[in-house]
Amino acid sequence: MTVKCGICPNNCIIKNGKSGLCGVRSAADGRINLPYYGLISAASADPIEKKPLYHFHPGKSIFSIGFFGCSLACPFCQNHRISKDFNTSPDDLSPVTPADIAARAKKSGSFGIAFTYSEPIVHFEYVIKTAEAARALGLKTVLVTNGYINENKGIELLKYIDAVNIDLKSFSDDFYRMELKGQLKPVLNFIENSVTRTHTEITTLVIPGKNASIKEISSAAGFIAELGRNIPYHLSAYYPAFKYRVPATLPSALIETAEAAKQKLNFVYTGNIYGGLTDTACPDCGNLLISRTGYQTEVTGFKKGKCSGCGASSEKIGIVL
Ligand code: SF4
Repeated sequence: MTVKCGICPNNCIIKNGKSGLCGVRSAADGRINLPYYGLISAASADPIEKKPLYHFHPGKSIFSIGFFGCSLACPFCQNHRISKDFNTSPDDLSPVTPADIAARAKKSGSFGIAFTYSEPIVHFEYVIKTAEAARALGLKTVLVTNGYINENKGIELLKYIDAVNIDLKSFSDDFYRMELKGQLKPVLNFIENSVTRTHTEITTLVIPGKNASIKEISSAAGFIAELGRNIPYHLSAYYPAFKYRVPATLPSALIETAEAAKQKLNFVYTGNIYGGLTDTACPDCGNLLISRTGYQTEVTGFKKGKCSGCGASSEKIGIVL
């Protein structure tokens, strides 16, 4: 007996007693079984900038939780111990209910809850239930994801989410197919659906010799710019991790790539390096709106929700204060 899981484009046909490619969704008695439902690998209060989200409640801390498993097979995964290598049996952990997690987030004083660290999409049902519980307590919801989801499921999920950071791991379908065992198109579809429904920021981990050419990053920036020049694009430096031994991204190369992307977008940021492009200036008048040093953030250039230089509203700029 088999059952099909339609959450992500892997569209696994799962045999009874076996798991899909994510390792967390399985089949039992001809139905999808969720043995990892409510099993949390990590919970922590993080600066929202760590997601990274630079234009959504800048300077605030958000209660963040992670799960196990992932739908892609990135050989450079920076969180492989919880995404791919996890040896945690569901029997070794106690599930936490969505209501309990939302209550913990509320009690922590956070303005919201972030689903992050590993891939939340493969925990689709739990994320929705927890987002509902969070919103019932007046909390915001954040999704940090690879964006690898079937279109109907993505549209459904976005109804429950207030802000998303989507990993655009490359702008090459070959790279997605060869290195990640996935496809580019579903991720682009999810980005398109996300920008019209919720606050959206995009991240690319820039890996030398793999996805780091100025031509490729400029193409990705061009795609994002067609959806909106004010969508923040984060370019993060890669460090060797998991199966990859490619040398780390040079800060100078990352900044050069970011400057090229800035030809097309108003907000391009560098991450995982010291310094770089981290501050936010008003795209209309150049006034410094937000300064960042590491995870220290100061919102200095707004007065009553408007740019103190030219009066442009934070909504127009695309910043949720
Ligand atoms: S969510 Fe998991 S089980 Fe479902 S299709 Fe994707 S990889 Fe397969």
